[in-house]
Parts: sequence; structure tokens; C-alpha cells
Amino acid sequence: MKYWITILLAAVAMNASAQLTDTVEWEKLVQFESERKGPHLSAPKNLNTLHYDVKYHRMEWEVSPLVRYIGGAVTTYFVPQTTGFNQIYFDLHTAMVVSAVQYHGTSCTFSQLPSSELLVTLPATLPVGVLDSLTISYGGVPPTTGFGSYATQNVCSNTVPAMWTLSEPYGARDWWPCKQDLNDKADSIDIYITTPSAYKGVANGVLMSQTVSGANTIYHWRHRHPIPAYLVAIAVSDYSVHSATLSLSGGGSIPMVNYLYPCSGTSGTTINNNLQPIMQLFINLFGNYPFTNEKYGHAQFGWGGGMEHTTVSFMGGFSHLLLAHELAHQWFGDKITCGSWADIWLNEGFATYLEGMTYENGLGGGASVWASWKQSKINNVTSLASGSVWVDDTTSVSRIFSSRLSYDKGALLLHMLRWKLGDTNFFQGVRNYLNDPALAYGYAKTPQLKAHLEAVSGQNLDEFFADWYYGQGYPTYTVQWSQNGAQLLTVQLFQTPSHASVSFFNIPVPVRFNGASKNRTLVFDPSTNGQTFTEQLDFTVTSVEFDPDRWLCAKSSIVLPVELTELSASWDGKAVQVKWATATETDNRGFEIQRMSEYGAPANNWETIGWKDGQGTSQTPAYYQWPDERPMPGMNYYRLRQLDFDGSEEFSMVVGAEAPTEHRGLKLFPNPARQEVWVEWPAAVENAELELYDVHGRLMLRQRWQEPLQRRLVSLSELPGGVYAVVLRAGGQVWMERLVRR
Ligand SMILES: [Zn+2]
Repeated sequence: MKYWITILLAAVAMNASAQLTDTVEWEKLVQFESERKGPHLSAPKNLNTLHYDVKYHRMEWEVSPLVRYIGGAVTTYFVPQTTGFNQIYFDLHTAMVVSAVQYHGTSCTFSQLPSSELLVTLPATLPVGVLDSLTISYGGVPPTTGFGSYATQNVCSNTVPAMWTLSEPYGARDWWPCKQDLNDKADSIDIYITTPSAYKGVANGVLMSQTVSGANTIYHWRHRHPIPAYLVAIAVSDYSVHSATLSLSGGGSIPMVNYLYPCSGTSGTTINNNLQPIMQLFINLFGNYPFTNEKYGHAQFGWGGGMEHTTVSFMGGFSHLLLAHELAHQWFGDKITCGSWADIWLNEGFATYLEGMTYENGLGGGASVWASWKQSKINNVTSLASGSVWVDDTTSVSRIFSSRLSYDKGALLLHMLRWKLGDTNFFQGVRNYLNDPALAYGYAKTPQLKAHLEAVSGQNLDEFFADWYYGQGYPTYTVQWSQNGAQLLTVQLFQTPSHASVSFFNIPVPVRFNGASKNRTLVFDPSTNGQTFTEQLDFTVTSVEFDPDRWLCAKSSIVLPVELTELSASWDGKAVQVKWATATETDNRGFEIQRMSEYGAPANNWETIGWKDGQGTSQTPAYYQWPDERPMPGMNYYRLRQLDFDGSEEFSMVVGAEAPTEHRGLKLFPNPARQEVWVEWPAAVENAELELYDVHGRLMLRQRWQEPLQRRLVSLSELPGGVYAVVLRAGGQVWMERLVRR
């Protein structure tokens, strides 16, 4: 499924599809839709329907686009799976009123439960493992849940009546008695649509016959592949029908049929011409179209997007992207269906990634679109710090169909798997998954895709899936680099995860180092934060580019900007002198001097202590110095945050300097302390200054006393419990001691 929308659609009913071809994906509207319909949608799993295996449905429906009503009969063939089978449940909304249930010519008693279930009491206990059947006759005005499970609406500027269904995820039961959980596909179906002869009815599979019966025509569609309830679909309107054959390279072909509104503004031939190279590409990459012996086709509908009903995608428009997305679902979603809504990315992540692959392979605008497509997906995913591909709340339709997570982050997850495993392993692993007899034309969950990729590559993907599938967020990388006179490159790679659920994202990191006439892309595979790598180059690096081909779902900053030729820090008896020099500067507004004490180091807590203006753009070497007259006792770390006038920033490498530590002589009592503590130092001095730092290196308390003092009672009542560094400076001396506040 792909939801698209024009701005207009928020306010007015959707009508002409021509308006939809150039549209903007708008997740908010999905959210609006599902919030509006939310209370109906929390239908996670029906244990009552687990006791039988659905084999077949014959659906006989009478519908009209003029009247919001469906009536008919559904005959279900099933095999009991448990002993004592004398009842059978179906999912069916209470708005559908059941008139009779027939079992071998006998009427059964039944009841419709408030839980949207139909409970049928069978006249006998049926044996386990023996195929049986019954017929449910019913009718009613369907509710509309999710994305509009059953819709009747005028299209083409309100001139053409239309009806269609869109059951995903929980809407099949709104209009037919089914088993709608993702654990059992009907092996085959026959659909009979009876509708006024002014209209045409379309459904899954092959059109077997159309028979005039009085004022109506009966359209018989037959689908002989396993199908989940949510992909069973019908649409009726004043369609023009365009049938053709899609020729494939190598001699094969696929029957094509397009059902278009009178106002479609596009022809079946144009659609097929645009579709053909996409179909060919997907076949080349992922194997034969899964329903070659039936058909592929499109039926126009009035919803602002597309829905991948098996063999017949329902389409709001016919843009390249929508054609590609819905076709991709025939492999990913229809041939193999996600085994739970928590695994929806197995449908939508693949369909989204296959959109991108069409650009990668020169279709739909080609390479430049491919580059911007990747960047836009990265931007969308990293626009928020949290969120996993795994759907943590399947009662929320907007969460299931989050375009940021299930679609875009799912697509990037696949892109990163491909990067990690290499093209050969990735594509072979995915083909193995699609052809696995246990999965093909059935259901799959994430571990089953993972197992195929592990088997083909020999790599263990436990951590990868823990980080990128179950884990939330993304990493921001900092690449610190320098090159010495012998052109030896030193690179230190840091990452900051955006969300606490992942402490370290595991993925190889590509970085391109550019010289005047050469470049080299190095791939680092860090296992720890801040890992250092060295590489002998044969050119001088002039610029650095993080992930130039956009493989990673990450943000980055490159360090070492303005070409620093020197950076040092040392204690000179009065202050730590931070010194640096530049060979050239470009657009340099200046340098922020940042310091981190050894107390702040565990939390990576940098404090800004000064500023030096830069030279803008200059070819003249420049020398800078900043005296830190108030270093913390012990080790101090310094770095420069260089800011350009355009707002971009880069960080320097980190240097350290040891400042004197003298803590003999500073007495704290009691220690541990509660509300207050006595601080005493060796001699009475004027202008003593007391500072308390917490374990993150944050200054929590500062007091000064002008009068000569040697001891002082200090209130701790404002401070939370914990460990503090107590620093006293007086007469050019520094004392330090640790204090525990209870
Ligand atoms: Zn989709």
C-alpha cells in the first residue's frame, strides 16, 4: 500500500485521479484517518479462528456503486484442526447481518457477537483433518475502517459512481465473513460480482465469464493462488477495460488488464509501456512475476494512493513511483505476506526499496533521482530521534503504516543489509527467501528473512537486527582525522546513538578522502566507540566526505576543517595554554574552545570556555592561543569547535593537559555529608573560591569569600545525593577532594 495525497484531498472528497499523479506523500493524513477510525481498529489476533484451516472461498456478492450495500453468500471450505470441532468462528462486523448458515443443506444456529465474530454451531462434531464446507448468507451496509475498507463514491468530478474495497489491515471483516489474521491463506477463491450492467466488476485472478442476468451482469473471477483475507478485493464502476500482453525479454509474457475510469487521462497502453521495464527489472532481480499464469493489472479507485491487491493493484494514479511500489508488492506482500502486522516492513520496506531500485537501474529519472531518493529517505528517518522498524503497537494503523518507519527506515534497513552483505549475498538471500517452499505464497516473519541472509552470507546478523530492526533511532558519526607529513592518515570514528535502546550501531562505515587529483574510499568497521584506524595514503587529503554513496541511515560531522596544522595544550605554571595553527582558512568565523575535565569524561560533557575569531578566508598561516587560567585539577581535555559563516561546524581532534592537583590539606567533614559540610584548607587566605562538580563534570555550586578564611560551613541542601568533586582555589593554589552527599 502507498498513501498519496494532494493538499486538496484533505478538505474535499477524492475524485479525479488525474490530480493524483503528481502528489506528495503526507503521513499526517494517514494519522488523521486512523485517529478518526482508531477505536475500531484494535483487533490484534483472534484465537477462535485458529481451529481450522481455510482452503477455499466461493464469494457471491451483489453490489452497486450507486448504493452502499453488499449482500450475498460466502461458501468456505475448511479443514478442522482440533478435536471436538462442533463450532466455527468467522470474523464479521455486526453491521453485516447474517440471514442463514447452511451446512450440507441444513440450517445451522449461529450468533453474531459484539466482538465482530460470527459463531456457527454445527449440527455435528466434525472429524479432524477432513475437508468440509458451509455457506453464510448475509447483507448490510458496511462500516468503513482503516483506509476505507468498503467505499462507494462518485469519481470523475462527481459524475461517475464507483465502489471499491481496501481491507488492509483489519477491514476484511467489515464486508465479508473471513479469517482475517495473518496465519492462514485461502488456497484459492472464486468471486462472483453481480452488478447493474452499466458497470463492470473487477477482482483478483482471471475473468472466467461475464453473464447477463436481467438488468445485471455477473462477473466471475477465479484466483488459484493462496491469498490472505486483506488482499481479496473487488471494485465496480463505469470502467473502460484495456487488455494486452506484456512481453518480456527472453520470450515470456504476462497478460495485462487495466480498468480505467472515463476521466483517467491516461491510456492502458501508456500504463503498460511505463510498467514493462519495471516488471522486467523486478523479474531480473527477484525471479518470475508470481502470478504469471493469471494476470497483472490495475483498477482505478478514488483513494489517494495505491493498494497491491493480488494480481490487480488498485490505483489512485499511475506515476512511475506508484506503478513500481504496487508491482513490487506482488513479490513482497502478495507472494510472501508479512506474518504479523509487526513485520509489515517485509511488505512496505521492500516495496519502498524497490521504488529506489528502479531509479538505481536507470528508470524513472535514473541516477540523480536515486541519489536524492536515498538522501530524502535518510532525512525523513533521522528527522526524529526514536522509532523502530519493528511495529511496537499493532493496534495503531498509523503506527503500522508509518511512512517514516515501516516504509523508509524499512527500505534503508534493506539497503544497509545489502551494503553489509554485498550485492551477491543480498540478492541471492532475498531470492532464496522468495523461493523457500515454507514461505512462498505463505507468510513470513523477520527472523525468516534474517535466516536466509545469514545462510547465504555466513554472517551472524543478530546484532544488526537488534540495532536496526528492534532498536530505535540512528547514529550520528563524528569522523576525526589527521594526516602527518608522511601522508599517514589517522582516523578516529565516534558515534552518538539518537536513542537509548541502542548503545552502539553495528555497521561498516564508508568515508571518502579526496586529494587534489585522487580520492580513496575507506570502509571502517568499528566495534567500539572512538576506535582509531590508520591508513597509508599516497596523496594529501584536502577534503573528507562521509558515506558518499549514501549507504547508511545516519547523520555525520567531519572533523578538521579549516586545515589545522597544530593543536596542543600544556600547563605553564599559571594556565593551560591551548595553541593551534592553521595553514589555510575558508569561510572561518572562528573557534570555540571547549574543555572537558576527567570528571566530565564519562558523560562526554564538553564545556565552552572561550572564543577566538577566525580569519575568514585566508592563505596565510595563522597562530592562535587561548590561556585556560581555571583548569580543573588533574587531566583536562580540549578541542576546538570551528564555525563557518554559513553555520556549518567541525570539531578538531582532542588534546589533553595535566593541571596540578593538590588535595592534601583540604578537609571535608563529615564525609559522607547530609545537609551541610565543613570545608577546611591549610591556611587562612583571602578570595577563596569553592566549586562543586557532579560526576558529569557540571558545575553545581560556586561560592566566593573575600575575607581571609580557613574553614567554612557549606550548605548542601540544594544538591541531590551523589558524588561531587570539591575544588578550592585560593592564592594561585588549587585543592580538590571527593565528597559524598547522602
Ligand atoms: Zn505499499
